[in-house]
Amino acid sequence: MSAAARPDMIRNACPSLAAPMATGDGLLVRLKPLPSGLSGGQWLALASAAQAHGNGRLEISSRGNIQIRGLQANSVLPLATAITAADIKIAAGPAIDCPPLSNTDHSGRSAITTLAEHLHSAIVSADLGHRLAAKTSIVIEGDSPFTLADLIADLRLCKNAGGWQVSVGGNRRRGKIIGQVSDEAALPVALKLLTCIAARGPHARGRDLDTDDFRALATAGLVPVKTSTMPPMTPTSLGPLALPDAAWAVVLQPAFGALDSKSLRQLSTQLAVFGDLRMHPAAGKKLVIEPLAADQVERLIEMAGRFGFIVGDDDRRQQLQICVGAPGCAQAHMDTQAVAQTIADSLNQSARIHVSGCAKACARPAQFDAEILGHAAGVTITGGTAKALPDSLNSLLETALRNACSDRRIM
Ligand code: SF4
Repeated sequence: MSAAARPDMIRNACPSLAAPMATGDGLLVRLKPLPSGLSGGQWLALASAAQAHGNGRLEISSRGNIQIRGLQANSVLPLATAITAADIKIAAGPAIDCPPLSNTDHSGRSAITTLAEHLHSAIVSADLGHRLAAKTSIVIEGDSPFTLADLIADLRLCKNAGGWQVSVGGNRRRGKIIGQVSDEAALPVALKLLTCIAARGPHARGRDLDTDDFRALATAGLVPVKTSTMPPMTPTSLGPLALPDAAWAVVLQPAFGALDSKSLRQLSTQLAVFGDLRMHPAAGKKLVIEPLAADQVERLIEMAGRFGFIVGDDDRRQQLQICVGAPGCAQAHMDTQAVAQTIADSLNQSARIHVSGCAKACARPAQFDAEILGHAAGVTITGGTAKALPDSLNSLLETALRNACSDRRIM
């Protein structure tokens, strides 16, 4: 079905090839590849398709999905054809997020993928998918070097020594822990929980469940638990990531959240030099490349840095959230990437800065310390969500704006 034939598109529902989302720079398609990740050749095909059928801009979302931007109603079908031709398998149905690397056979992690696959099949068999809210999310994680602890989930199953810890709503820290299940009981309990959510109506979420629902799960094998048995997790750092069995991965981030088709093509082409690697889109707008030998890690990091990727947590570009901006978006009043790069080059403090090309502020995060917006008459710099804009940051941003877009008036 073409996008033009879907006036009912809901902005906040995760778009797919069948239902792209209208944005400031055209239609956006969001894809969740299977947990096995993509080969260098498949990423290359994706970069070419994004260039040919969209505006050449891709993104990795906070939940680790691939987004292709700048499509038109008549370019979605050719994009779908190119994805099929590259044998890129896309997960359909309700979103089940697993950590990258959980498809491998290193200790414990294959249990994550196995449960995800079985749960997905069970949801399809029970015809449950269309009865759940469009943004229902399921996170299955735990014994993996890559954490999904920050992702909000309606239902979360965390692998531990006794089986799985089950929680609903929130991220791993704030979700409501409701119990522990054995490996055997994980699937029936998860399915029953989702059935309880669906029974509460088409907009119900995991956080809406109550103690009556949880009591009913005892028959499926849930043992009530109130305190987490999972260790605290910090977000996975950029750079080298040690895997079991002496293998390595490298975690990268596209600069400013944007994966332009040129740098993606450069990186994808060079991956073959390192062997038969897989590159996974990952939560936190990251990319994970594996498996590497120890002596390949530094070489790959150096190469990715040369192609413009962020390869370390100390990179100032991580502090900036930007929208597509000019020239990709027709609504934009400034080149957000050029502005952001100029700011990052001179940034000397740990401020979170939002830059959008117009007042629609598509990239505005929940919290930021300073905001720069493009307008027809010029550019505004304002303070953030928590406190007033410090003078030192204001003057640094003004200087950067004068350098990056001298033709724009600072209002
Ligand atoms: S905020 Fe940015 S991406 Fe959104 S419409 Fe404005 S210029 Fe386009």
